[in-house]
Amino acid sequence: MSKIMMKTPLVEMDGDEMTRILWEMIKDKLLMPFVSLQTEYYDLGLKKRDETDDQITIDSAEATKRLGVAVKCATITPNADRVREYGLKEMWKSPNGTIRAILDGTVFRTPITVKGIEPCVRNWEKPITLARHAYGDVYKNVELRVPGAGKAELVYTDAAGNETRKLIQTFTGPGVVQGVHNLDASIESFARACFQFALDEKKELWFGTKDTISKTYDARFREIFDGIYEKEYKERFQNAGITYFYTLIDDAVARIMKSKGGMIWACKNYDGDVMSDMVSSAFGSLAMMTSVLVSPSGVYEYEAAHGTVQRHYYKHLKGEETSTNPVATIFAWSGALRKRGELDALPELQKFADRLEAATLGTIESGVMTKDLALITTLPKESVTVKNTGDFIDAIAARLS
Ligand code: NAP
Ligand code: MG
Repeated sequence: MSKIMMKTPLVEMDGDEMTRILWEMIKDKLLMPFVSLQTEYYDLGLKKRDETDDQITIDSAEATKRLGVAVKCATITPNADRVREYGLKEMWKSPNGTIRAILDGTVFRTPITVKGIEPCVRNWEKPITLARHAYGDVYKNVELRVPGAGKAELVYTDAAGNETRKLIQTFTGPGVVQGVHNLDASIESFARACFQFALDEKKELWFGTKDTISKTYDARFREIFDGIYEKEYKERFQNAGITYFYTLIDDAVARIMKSKGGMIWACKNYDGDVMSDMVSSAFGSLAMMTSVLVSPSGVYEYEAAHGTVQRHYYKHLKGEETSTNPVATIFAWSGALRKRGELDALPELQKFADRLEAATLGTIESGVMTKDLALITTLPKESVTVKNTGDFIDAIAARLS
């Protein structure tokens, strides 16, 4: 059998622990036998990040800007324990944060749906993609404990030194006060990433804020989305047969719960934090959630939404059998290969991505799955076979052949 050719290499960002083991198995058994795989390889494993003073992370993000599509393995974000465990020179920052800052992107998370793993919201027939704005608001807040009676004010001083003041509250006793901000530029790039991704995916886009109460702050989000939509995207949305729908955040939540799903749901930073956990747990499992970072300039980085599955890795190191779910990592590769195929006009590569996903889902639907899925499947118990990590990937490979 001749292998499928590629034109432009993918940026390959390798990672840590159990997902690093999955990474190699996926390449060996599911990709290299079928595709003449071309990648520019960056080892974002913690050891290499420490050796290069994290320069490798920056280089991988720059390569993504240059080549357009990356696929990333889960990586350790160091904490004090990891600094000790790996003898690190420094507590390096989260690679995802570093990459996101360089690409200025928005993260879209979509559950992978499959027969036998049913969402606990019965009317959700199609996956809901969540887009979270990743800058500002309460995540960059400044707050004060107010010890007692006094006056709190909001003060803005412009470049010429002119002050604008607003009274927040005249306190008669103790309390709390908080200042938050956002930037037009960040909201604009969030809006463009959402409109662009909706067009790419041919899905409707929903957005909600609390602009009836927050008549300046949240209203600014609505105005920016409306303005960019009218000027840059309305016609393209009409031609693609999709819609942009704005409503109050509480109305959005109520409608989502009653919907059939299938939309992209854009959320402000805090709403996205909360709602992405609701959506992902309602759809079943973190191991069945894909994640793609889309930059406003049209650069894509695909990954799994889960971490490095440390607990399973320690079992693996002790020689014990593990049943780690590789599905989200497989879909990171299929997503990146499909996008590369689209950009390079390689229909065979796009078809391979479809076949890889179909073989993965077909394997699960046939009752062959990892332990995490066996615990939540609605398939009859007698038709389910639990496989270890390697055997599950072998079963997908056999179906793919
Ligand atoms: P995690 O790796 O997502 O795993 C948490 C638990 O979820 C696991 O112990 C496992 O439960 C279950 N799980 C997650 N993925 C699974 C899979 N593919 N198959 C089966 N079960 C799965 O989160 P963590 O243990 O909190 O974090 C480990 C490391 O990952 C940390 O160093 C963190 O910094 C990093 N992290 C990286 C990313 C990223 O690169 N995008 C994201 C999050 C966390 P059971 O143990 O009950 O089986
Ligand atoms: Mg959260």
